Amino acid sequence: MLSLNLKGKIAFIAGIGDDQGYGWGIAKALAEAGVTILTGTWVPIAKIFQQSWDLGKFDKSRLLSDGSLMNIDKIYPLDASFDKPEDIPEEIKNNKRYKGINNFTISEVANQVKNDYGKIDFLIHSLANSPEITKSLLETTRQGYLSAISASSYSFVSLLSHFGPFMKKGGGSISLTYLAANKAIPGYGGGMNSAKAALESDTKILAWEAGQKWGIRINTISAGPLPSRAAKAIGFIEKMVDYYQTMIPISEEMSAQQVGNAALFLLSELGSGINGTTLYVDHGYHIMGINPSCFSN
Ligand code: NAD
Repeated sequence: MLSLNLKGKIAFIAGIGDDQGYGWGIAKALAEAGVTILTGTWVPIAKIFQQSWDLGKFDKSRLLSDGSLMNIDKIYPLDASFDKPEDIPEEIKNNKRYKGINNFTISEVANQVKNDYGKIDFLIHSLANSPEITKSLLETTRQGYLSAISASSYSFVSLLSHFGPFMKKGGGSISLTYLAANKAIPGYGGGMNSAKAALESDTKILAWEAGQKWGIRINTISAGPLPSRAAKAIGFIEKMVDYYQTMIPISEEMSAQQVGNAALFLLSELGSGINGTTLYVDHGYHIMGINPSCFSN
């Protein structure tokens, strides 16, 4: 394995709640390079994630190439749909899954990270949410659409605007997007295609603004299908994974580690000339115009 030394750097990764998703893959790749990992974990699953971590349930997946276990320095409960305490609606305040957990809005988490660590180097946005993901766009309500954009795209704008002021010059930020931003993917509903399109467009203007303001680079990775917890909510991720195999030039399953390695590359000195881009890490799926299996036999 190619090794990079980023010891002394600190990354905040928003959107890790288990060891199955892209956030985990990015955490591992950064940890391999010596980066200190902090996570923002969605409030409803933060306790169970912390408990499972403490009980050693992720120990197998934490294994790094040198035989040590990846450490998460601190887990911050986060709800990236809210910027400040005044934004939290009563139904969330009274929700039992939020009981006993405070200071989870973006501004409050940013303040805690700043108080705990001073400056950080990397900000990773690996989260998305749509309450109506299984509905087609024509069936999606205004509330569902806005909620998808709020949780999946504006959350990145807000995280960056709150973390940027204490990010080190030369640092960087990565988000995760999907091909549905610019191609029709039936079934990826609830306004999630729109949310990803916003995320990709915002990557460009935010690269300009954050570059000018803080000297940090902003990129997004368009990843292939992975049967993560979030992807399973779409309902047909396993079929997508199989279909994907019929399309890509070299048959290989998508892995969170490959996305992690690409994120590490983009955030490191190796990626220092890359800014505002959407990098496809999908085994070339996005280049294909037809499904070649239609013509086999
Ligand atoms: P995942 O389940 O590992 O990650 C999604 C995370 O978002 C979860 O931990 C969830 O708890 C968190 N989350 C949801 N709402 C939140 C909120 N309001 N505040 C804070 N956290 C919240 O699944 P994943 O598939 O690895 O998703 C990570 C990113 O990768 C997402 O942006 C997703 O759209 C993107 N992506 C996934 C795929 C795929 O096939 N899995 C493909 C392309 C892009």
